[in-house]
Amino acid sequence: MIGTIPKPFEEIMAAVDGYDALAVVGCDGCAKVCNTGGSDQVAELAEKFKENGKTVALAVTPERTCYVGKTETVLKPHADDLKKADAVVVLGCGGAVQIARQVIESMDITVPVKTGLDSVGHMDTLVMGELALEQCQECGECILNETGGICPVTKCAKGLLNGPCGGAENGKCEVDPERDCAWVLIYERMAALGELDKLRRFMAPKDYSKISKHRKLYISERRVA
Ligand code: SF4
Ligand code: SF4
Repeated sequence: MIGTIPKPFEEIMAAVDGYDALAVVGCDGCAKVCNTGGSDQVAELAEKFKENGKTVALAVTPERTCYVGKTETVLKPHADDLKKADAVVVLGCGGAVQIARQVIESMDITVPVKTGLDSVGHMDTLVMGELALEQCQECGECILNETGGICPVTKCAKGLLNGPCGGAENGKCEVDPERDCAWVLIYERMAALGELDKLRRFMAPKDYSKISKHRKLYISERRVA
């Protein structure tokens, strides 16, 4: 899940300063799970805008705003409402904001698209009062098959592929003693699976061209039938 947290309302208001009529676009995917951009949060923000002197031309919540097809399905029937908006505020991850902008541009509507959220990564949960942990940095060359399903790229402070570094103490990371050493976790997991021998092999450096920006994906075949 792409984790998102709300921007302070004052920051959102500053972003829409000078724009009177606003459209609010949420996301019924990750942002809904995070309680940051589902239909409830869209309605709340729309209400807050009105209380602060704005008008709301549109308030909608596509199923997955990061996905072009789902966003088009919801926004295209609302072209007239979007044309009335001076700015659009998206309650979704950075990807959702950009897809919403792209879809609106494709409708020949020129309007600024702003974000109401901060995206914080691929998290396991985002529950108030609970610690959320990043799970994956989408490196494009997954090594979880070799590491017992625990990602050292994300969870080792140094991103070591052939850990541990030697600095762990009592199972905790030398960089941050509050968190578990990823390589101790990997070792324990592999031991539980009876696969410790697999850790003896050297893991080759990753192909960093796969994470060079801007990443593109061309799907030419299905690998699994
Ligand atoms: S190795 Fe780690 S960062 Fe790379 S795809 Fe797998 S889980 Fe994600
Ligand atoms: S102590 Fe463990 S998690 Fe921390 S940097 Fe070293 S190998 Fe990585």
